Amino acid sequence: FSSIAGGLWRSTQDAADLALAPFSDPVIRLGVTGLSRAGKTVFITSLVANLMDRARMPQLAANPRILAAYLQPQPDDTMPRFDLEGHLGALLGPEPYWPEGTRRASQLRLSLRLQPEGMLAGVQGPRTVHLDIVDYPGEWLLDLGLLEKSYADWSAQALRRAEGRAEGAVYREALAKADPAAEHEEPAAQALARAWTTYLDTAREAGYSDLTPGRFLLPGEMEGSPVLTFAPMPKPDDPTRRSLWREFERRYDSYVRNVVQKFFREHFARIDRQVVLVDVLGAIHAGPRAVEDLREAMADILGAFRPGRNAVLSRLLRGRRIDRILFAATKADHLHHSQHPALQAITEALLRDARDRADFAGATTQAMAIAALRATVEDRVEHGGRSLDVVRGRLAETGRMAALHAGELPSDPSKILSPARSGAERWLDEDYGIMNFAPARLELAPGEGPPHIRLDRAAQFLFGDRL
Ligand code: GDP
Repeated sequence: FSSIAGGLWRSTQDAADLALAPFSDPVIRLGVTGLSRAGKTVFITSLVANLMDRARMPQLAANPRILAAYLQPQPDDTMPRFDLEGHLGALLGPEPYWPEGTRRASQLRLSLRLQPEGMLAGVQGPRTVHLDIVDYPGEWLLDLGLLEKSYADWSAQALRRAEGRAEGAVYREALAKADPAAEHEEPAAQALARAWTTYLDTAREAGYSDLTPGRFLLPGEMEGSPVLTFAPMPKPDDPTRRSLWREFERRYDSYVRNVVQKFFREHFARIDRQVVLVDVLGAIHAGPRAVEDLREAMADILGAFRPGRNAVLSRLLRGRRIDRILFAATKADHLHHSQHPALQAITEALLRDARDRADFAGATTQAMAIAALRATVEDRVEHGGRSLDVVRGRLAETGRMAALHAGELPSDPSKILSPARSGAERWLDEDYGIMNFAPARLELAPGEGPPHIRLDRAAQFLFGDRL
């Protein structure tokens, strides 16, 4: 009898366990992307810290109420874990510094314990929703264009773009010394791949973002492998099978198949909600060409989320799709809040422009100006007889406090988006160039996450409706 009772008890318990089993809890997969240094690492770290301590998240859903947020083992065993503890240590330590940015894809699971409020409060007990955050370099998204491009087409386009740029000189020199029709030899292949990588690196520093292949910039464990040892070349008349050109064509095809397709199938295809972080201020400061390039990159990135545009991608996604995308201009704490509406308007205009260019329909999109981690406080100073809105923070190089004014943003976004119409005006040309603030030293009260600007609004748009 006792053993039957034991068995019964166990099966009832099993049923109860099953009802609570983790696989039955809803999961929201949130993708976080953006080009290098856009602010992905800081965004995820501050978002998680603020979800665990929610005093600074008033705009995030009040119903259901979040009772607790806690970390759990992530579902994908083979994917690197986002180094939350390491990054928190850097940002919240006694001598705070910026953590190292994203160099590969990683993941973190944060589980939220929720309690419905109001009429449902008495009927429904607490339940759990998992937020799986997937961090990946935006450079990898730009490889989307490669899925449907042959090596010959990609080469022609990449060479054309590099042609007009001073940064392309190194590669032009290397290419002049190479013979695409000659028999493939590895040293020549490596020299070209190195020169192309140098071009991509310097072009990125100059503010360009249409840089492919994306893994050349962030190679990870594939560094030095043949799949990353090729470069664009004009097609010779009749390349033989053993020519350098054919070998590069073969490696390019392998890159598309084994690197690009693999990424879209394994990571991208499983995302529900997406935030794309954009360093709008950095591009505006760098000047009209960088803004123009950012516009193209945003359209290309948005194109990656357009269902049905790309046959290869549609096959990889197997009908899944992302239904909300947030474009967030980061580092708004470089500006006094009196300039935030202008940054917001510019970001909205950039998004509208990207939607038009990518002929985008489908997911709900929104633009926002945010700072994931506020490194400054606001102030007003008298300067040269005028009163100036400034931000004050600790400079990373010297450790000294400084009150700086980035320069003006136009209230009319078209002045930035169509520089041709307004002449070669410069924006953010005052102190922006020296605004390298370190994270502020923080003394957080219990329950209080790190300071931010509109991170709670971003969270509400991204997953508040799914709680
Ligand atoms: P990732 O390459 O996209 O992961 O970019 P990171 O998150 O590493 O951010 C790159 C750099 O941007 C950081 O090292 C900071 O200097 C700066 N940054 C990022 N977020 C913020 C922010 O909210 N405020 C300020 N002032 N700087 C930020």
